[in-house]
Amino acid sequence: RCHRARVLRRADTLASMSDTLFERIINREVPADIVHETETTIAFRDINPRATTHVLVVPKTRYRNVAELAAADPGLLADVVNTAAKVAELEGVAEAGYRLTFNTGEDAGQTVFHVHGHLLGGSSLGPEAR
Ligand code: 5GP
Repeated sequence: RCHRARVLRRADTLASMSDTLFERIINREVPADIVHETETTIAFRDINPRATTHVLVVPKTRYRNVAELAAADPGLLADVVNTAAKVAELEGVAEAGYRLTFNTGEDAGQTVFHVHGHLLGGSSLGPEAR
């Protein structure tokens, strides 16, 4: 367990020398409304929700975007998708439907360069809820 934590931390260090906001949330240095957590992922509410349900689903190991995550560790991408599905169930939107989006790059509005899925759901889920 300890060894695994060291390996994960080393992967982070190799990815970048400076923490993003999400490493700080993962490490409990910044508070967040955490709705679900697994060994490899964490899910917490977006601070500026654009839908009734707006939860960010984040792998604990840092990759800049979903393509880098998919190339480096497809199993971890599956963990992210499975965590999103679990959160959709917990939030009561799994049946009615939800959106899972990964902004990639500045033109898409990506501001935190630690890959995260936006899980968006709720009765008023319109096209603006990205
Ligand atoms: P992006 O724009 O990179 O796809 O998504 C970043 C998201 O992080 C935004 O939707 C933004 O509202 C959210 N966010 C920014 N700062 C914080 C924070 O301190 N806490 C939480 N929970 N979410 C944040």
